[in-house]
Amino acid sequence: MIKKKGGITTHEMEPVIFCDFDGTITQLDVTDQILSQLAHPSWREIEQQWMQGLIGSRECLERQIALVNAPTEDLHAAIDAVAVDTDFTAFCKFARKKRWPIYVLSDGFDYVIRRMLKSAGVEKQFRSGSTLFASALQVDGRRLTLSFPHSPEPCAHGCATCKAALINRLHDGRRPVVFVGDGMSDRFAVDVADVIFAKRQLLAHCRANGIACHPFETFKDVQNGLESLLVPLPARRLRQAAVALS
Ligand SMILES: [Mg+2]
Ligand SMILES: [Zn+2]
Repeated sequence: MIKKKGGITTHEMEPVIFCDFDGTITQLDVTDQILSQLAHPSWREIEQQWMQGLIGSRECLERQIALVNAPTEDLHAAIDAVAVDTDFTAFCKFARKKRWPIYVLSDGFDYVIRRMLKSAGVEKQFRSGSTLFASALQVDGRRLTLSFPHSPEPCAHGCATCKAALINRLHDGRRPVVFVGDGMSDRFAVDVADVIFAKRQLLAHCRANGIACHPFETFKDVQNGLESLLVPLPARRLRQAAVALS
C-alpha cells in the first residue's frame, strides 16, 4: 500500500529486509574461519581490541587481512568449507514472491560472499553496490587487500561497512525496517531497525540494552516470524478466531 503524504511517498507494511552475512546467512563466521586458518595468530589480539571498542571494524579488518599470506586455493578451500543456512534460498524466494527487498550488509568480503551466494544459487539476487554492500577484497597472489567502496567516508563508529548509514539510505520509506543479524558488527544497525531478529552476541547485546528482538536460529524462523508479524490485520483476526474455535 502506497500513501502520498505531504508530497513524500511512504509505504505502509511494506517491509524491507537487511541481513548481515557472516554467522547470519552462513552457519559459521567465514571471515573468522579465513583468519584462523590463513592469518598470523596475532589477528586474535586485533579482534580483542575491536570487541573492547578500542578500534572500529575498518581498522580491525585492514590490520587483520594484512596478516594473511596464503595461496588462493587455500582461501577457496576455507570459504567452501563453510555452509550457507539451508533455509536462506527458500527465504529469498519467499521475499521475492512478496516483493519485499532484501539487502546483504556486511563488514566481510564481497569476493567471499559472492562465491558463497553462488553456491546457494541466489547470486543473481545480490549485486555489489545495489543489493550487496560489503568490503571489497582484492586477491593478489598470496596477499589480500581491502577497500571500502560503499562507505568511502569513515563513519563515527569506524565501521568497514556502515550498516546503520546504509539502512538509512536504502529503506526508501518502506516499513517496517527488518534487520537480521548475529554479532557485534550489527550493534549500530539495530538502533535504526523496527523489527530485529537476533542470535548469539547480537541477541545478548539486545537483551543487555533492553532492545526488543526475536531470537532466531535459521531463516525458516525469520520467515515464520515475519509471516505471523506482518500478516494483514483482518486475516490475523480471522486466524485468531479460528484458533479460539479449535
Ligand atoms: Mg555476523
Ligand atoms: Zn558506522
